Amino acid sequence: MALMTGKKCLIMGVANKRSIAWGVAQALHREGAELAFTYAGERLKENVEELVATLPDHDRVPVYPCDVTKTEEIKALFERIAADWGRLDVFVHSVAYAKQEHLIGTFTDISWDGYALAHHISAYSLIETTRYARPLLEAAGGGSILTMTYMASEKVVKRYNVMATAKAALECNVRYLADELGPSNIRVNAISAGPLKTLAASAVKGLTLLRDLVEEHAPMRRNVTLEEVGDVGLFLASPLSRCVTGEVLHADNGYNILSASGSAQP
Ligand code: NAD
Repeated sequence: MALMTGKKCLIMGVANKRSIAWGVAQALHREGAELAFTYAGERLKENVEELVATLPDHDRVPVYPCDVTKTEEIKALFERIAADWGRLDVFVHSVAYAKQEHLIGTFTDISWDGYALAHHISAYSLIETTRYARPLLEAAGGGSILTMTYMASEKVVKRYNVMATAKAALECNVRYLADELGPSNIRVNAISAGPLKTLAASAVKGLTLLRDLVEEHAPMRRNVTLEEVGDVGLFLASPLSRCVTGEVLHADNGYNILSASGSAQP
């Protein structure tokens, strides 16, 4: 039997075929999971529907709206999942946003509005969506929640600015949620992925340089692929990681273990 047979998995954060959420969804699907997707705003609805149409069982794959800045949309999403599925085994939260001006400007110039928006979408949304996902995960006897972070939360990566602070908050949220939800057999983990060329990442100037540095200095001397991060997502979603919670798992070919001088070595 495949690893995820009979598991109901909600995927939040697909924008296009390069999205990390799509990589995780494909890995889960390969192992027999039943999937549902969300899209953020009408503009992305068609993209998500087109991708879902490529799945062999697409007529059984629901696609729901959910903009995480709107509590009523979060509530409506989980009400519909309760009505359609009655339970949830896996919730993939792969969502982040910051205005470009708060990524390219100087750190001291970040406005409260920019800070609040980035933290609302990229960090607080994990708490709010988990609040509504929890009863459905409990109805399944437990489950796995997975989010996406980046090592700019731990060490300064130039130009990540407000997103770095949001990722630090997100990682802390993971630990507190894991502590609270553990007694319900719900695990909460984050993947800290190496740089990938996605829509969200294109807002950060210098992504190509970061990828060049990884290729040159990471212990594995290569960048990660969407498929590789998807497989790590599968691991954290599946019973193989049943004793892992509150963890930030680096999927970056080891780049994070280098010191600044290590990554600057020829
Ligand atoms: P992406 O642009 O494909 O995905 C980001 C998703 O966030 C999009 O689907 C977008 O619709 C969604 N989103 C933005 N605002 C939203 C809102 N208000 N409500 C609901 N959804 C909203 O890019 P990605 O790189 O796949 O990003 C996914 C996650 O992975 C993000 O948390 C990102 O920070 C993280 N991450 C990315 C990289 C990278 O290099 N690409 C590395 C580490 C971590």
